[in-house]
Amino acid sequence: MKVSVDRTLCYGSAECAHRAPTVFAFEGGYGVVRPGREDASDDPQVREAAEKCPAQAIAFVE
Ligand code: SF4
Repeated sequence: MKVSVDRTLCYGSAECAHRAPTVFAFEGGYGVVRPGREDASDDPQVREAAEKCPAQAIAFVE
């Protein structure tokens, strides 16, 4: 599973970057997955960030 952020949903709260800073960054007003960290979908901090994203913009895809 790969983690991704849907920019059409993200409204830039930056919470993901605070909850899982090794995987998410905040750039240009959006949450982004750091390059090379797309495979971190099993990280509990990433799961929590996804659950608590207020826009439900963090997705897990095969
Ligand atoms: S927590 Fe959600 S809405 Fe906030 S920056 Fe991250 S992806 Fe965007």
